[in-house]
Order: sequence, then structure tokens, then C-alpha cells
Amino acid sequence: MDKYLKALKQNVCSVCVDSNEKGGCTLNEKESCAVELFLPQIIDVIHNTDSDNMQEIHQKLKDTVCVECRAQENGNCYLREDANCSLDRYFWSIIETIQKVDAGLIT
Ligand code: SF4
Ligand code: SF4
Repeated sequence: MDKYLKALKQNVCSVCVDSNEKGGCTLNEKESCAVELFLPQIIDVIHNTDSDNMQEIHQKLKDTVCVECRAQENGNCYLREDANCSLDRYFWSIIETIQKVDAGLIT
């Protein structure tokens, strides 16, 4: 799990609007990042989706992760609607980073 976390910090946190200039997360203790919170489930979805279709993987992430997330109610998420969820905002880059770790392209 650590290798994924490290790679995500380098590739996603570094460009995240919620990070400082050094790539450190600026969320406070009352806020949580869906990428960190649901990382095992995210990795699981990517490993168990037999498709390279990003839309399909995105939908599976929503079906698996968002249903567990307290920000979602009746299929709607105020954070997603405000482009304020890191998982939704950077899902493409998250998937790519995890696949690169799996392929040994990021260590
Ligand atoms: S919100 Fe998540 S993705 Fe963004 S900097 Fe913080 S930990 Fe990284
Ligand atoms: S899009 Fe919303 S429901 Fe889904 S993980 Fe992000 S905050 Fe949670």
C-alpha cells in the first residue's frame, strides 16, 4: 500500500489544488481526502476491472467508493458537484499512477 501512496503523493498531490507548493496536503483534520480514505477500494477496483475504458473504471469507482462515502446522498455528492473531491477530480491520473506502479514503471 505504501508504494501506491508514495506514487500518488508524487503524481497527484503535487498537482492537487488542495496541496501547498511542496505537495503537502492542506486539508484540515475535519476534512478528509477520498483518495487516502478509500485507497484500498480504489486499488481493488482498478485491479479487478478487466477493461482499459476509463469511463467504465470511473463508473465502477463511483459504484464502489461513492456508495460508502458519507458525502453522497441519493446518488448526489455536493463535493463532486463542486469539483471538490480529489478522487473525482484526478481519477484519470490516479488510475494511471496505480497502473504504472503495477507495471514497475514507478517504484
Ligand atoms: S486532498 Fe488528497 S490528493 Fe489532494 S493533496 Fe490532499 S491528500 Fe493529496
Ligand atoms: S465523489 Fe463524493 S461520494 Fe464520491 S468519493 Fe468523492 S466525496 Fe465521496
